[in-house]
Amino acid sequence: MSRVLIAEDEPRIASFIEKGLRANGFTTAVAADGGAARAQAASGEFDLLVLDIGLPVMDGFEVLRRLRAERNPIPVIILTARDSVQDTVAGLEGGADDYMPKPFRFEELLARVRLRLATDRTAELTVLTCGDLSLDLRTRRARVSEATVDLSAREFALAETFLRHPGQVLAREQLLSHVWGYDFDPGSNVVDVYVRYLRRKIGAGRIETVRGMGYRLVEA
Ligand code: CA
Repeated sequence: MSRVLIAEDEPRIASFIEKGLRANGFTTAVAADGGAARAQAASGEFDLLVLDIGLPVMDGFEVLRRLRAERNPIPVIILTARDSVQDTVAGLEGGADDYMPKPFRFEELLARVRLRLATDRTAELTVLTCGDLSLDLRTRRARVSEATVDLSAREFALAETFLRHPGQVLAREQLLSHVWGYDFDPGSNVVDVYVRYLRRKIGAGRIETVRGMGYRLVEA
């Protein structure tokens, strides 16, 4: 049974995450400030840390920085406000494994928790590939053939979604809810815009438009 530490100072959100994880067979504990989070994460009793950025005593970035400075390899999923993506990217460079923009659906967090725990055990899952396109989920690097491609956080998330479903047609709504979250306007054309960005970076032929249905990743 996996043990998850939830560092979150808002009781409503902490309880939402805790109830959901327990219902899915996880053991949980909540730390309501950064000092407690750091101490409990350092205890070695947890397999994963869900870490809010805005915490009293010590913020999430500082908790993460200290854990990594102590060479603590615990997988960390950062919870962040949707408008703080720049900060979040900085957090990922500081050694977080993934991030979850608030607000989120519980299933989205659960998928990330499961992925991180699985990734931790099986190294091959840290790199997703389709033909000569690859994404390293730990370093957040994308490669086409041998060349590194710079992707923004959203582009990376979009590419990751495609690489998890190679050859499958993904509807705009699916991509929207997976990459942008449920509260995004379903009438938005943001998916099409980002598919265009991604095509420019990884090669237009890799993402096919399936008329009236969505998009599909194919080997170039
Ligand atoms: Ca907070």
